[in-house]
Amino acid sequence: MYLYNSLSHKKEEFKPNHEGLVKMYTCGPTVYHFAHIGNLRTYIMEDVLEKALRYVGYPVKRVMNITDVGHLASDADTGEDKMLKGARREHKSVMEIAKYYTDAFFADCEKLNIKRPDVVEPATNCIDEFIQIVSGLLEKGFAYLAGGNVYFDTSKLEKYYAFGDHEEENLAVGVREGVEEDTNKRNKNDFVLWFTKSKFEDQALKWESPWGVGYPGWHIECSGISLKHLGEDLDIHCGGIDNAFPHHTNEIAQSESFLGHKWCNYWFHVHHLNTNDGKMSKSKGEFLTVSLLESKGYDPMVYRLFCLQSHYRRNLVFSYENLDNAAVAYQKLTAKIAELSPDTEEAVDKEAFDKLKGKFLTALNGDLNTSLAVTAVYDVLKAKTNDTTKLAAIKDFDQVLSLNLLEAAAKMRAEKKREEEAQEHDPIIDALVSARLAAKKEKNWAEADRIRDELKAQGIEIIDTPQGSKWKRV
Ligand code: AMP
Ligand code: ZN
Repeated sequence: MYLYNSLSHKKEEFKPNHEGLVKMYTCGPTVYHFAHIGNLRTYIMEDVLEKALRYVGYPVKRVMNITDVGHLASDADTGEDKMLKGARREHKSVMEIAKYYTDAFFADCEKLNIKRPDVVEPATNCIDEFIQIVSGLLEKGFAYLAGGNVYFDTSKLEKYYAFGDHEEENLAVGVREGVEEDTNKRNKNDFVLWFTKSKFEDQALKWESPWGVGYPGWHIECSGISLKHLGEDLDIHCGGIDNAFPHHTNEIAQSESFLGHKWCNYWFHVHHLNTNDGKMSKSKGEFLTVSLLESKGYDPMVYRLFCLQSHYRRNLVFSYENLDNAAVAYQKLTAKIAELSPDTEEAVDKEAFDKLKGKFLTALNGDLNTSLAVTAVYDVLKAKTNDTTKLAAIKDFDQVLSLNLLEAAAKMRAEKKREEEAQEHDPIIDALVSARLAAKKEKNWAEADRIRDELKAQGIEIIDTPQGSKWKRV
């Protein structure tokens, strides 16, 4: 499989350190609010990556953190802790907020068929691990104490900007965010490993440490949780593109300084979902969540398809018009699949199956080209082979796409059957529908409308189609 590696800025053949296991780490959500559909785009694409790796034959161990402490309002270690902000907003404790939004996050993931990672670890479970790393960094001279906090000293590194494509001045912490600089820092990009003092005094969660009572910085948690569950070498680390700097840059700095060797080989970054007016936000404009889309009548699978139709390394613009297009595509696709006959006694045509699978694999292996992978499903429908083979191929591909294709098609078939059955078994309604049709033919609109209204009063809706009039109970 070839994947674009943000470290080398090239597509590279993915080769795990140990053939027996791919060690995969994902930055998890900050659980101070619901995830917006932008956040979920990132988790959908990471889910496809994990499933694609499994599909091509690798066993995967995937770890995700839950950020329940230490992520300040600005990624540059300034402002209030996001968790505290959430707790104050809702007049609840930080732990109540964390539990509520962690559960909400996984409920959203379930709706979107995003598999739960093998290990999910809240940061507040791993304070001892973080303290151990911070102690190690102090011992090795990569960290210093100032104003009560422990900072990572970025000047000790030969190369701090691991992803290499940042303009130092523009992205320097403080300057970038337009916020006042932390005068404790020796270098602009130094970052906090452990806070004992900050601009606000009422941090709810605090722990004993060799440097005083306090709490960990945001970046240290991902290094600590990864080391705890995946050991000293990591194959692939994922996150949204905004995490590349400073979060992932800082993760690399502290992990490699602590370990004394290279830590992670591949970095997979998902580009952003934006709205027409720019960045997706939890506080400004419409707060776009999966539940909001559902309340507007969209199946979460439509949103998943919308994401899969574009490449993860391109920004994607969300609009209801674009989502409507995905809804039509999903409806048409599943309707076509519903026309395939699942009860056939024919066997799978192995040659045809392998050829179709080959196309699907080529799409995945080419830097996770999900839109081509979806096209491979259309190719199945057009292929000259039997329905058993087509259904087998679609079932196989959907292990990765997770669009509920066969389930949605089966539902459609069942609905159609129910509709047909309902009509067959009600001669009185059929007679009224026929009478209305006859009235319409005679241009007796008043009679036609009267019959329609009479049926409506009984909870029956007439649907006019080119093939004639059908009806359904509403
Ligand atoms: P957070 O809960 O803020 O820590 O973010 C969770 C994940 O969503 C991170 O991997 C972010 O990089 C990612 N993310 C944030 N905003 C967007 C967006 N608009 N589109 C895609 N991913 C995003
Ligand atoms: Zn992280």
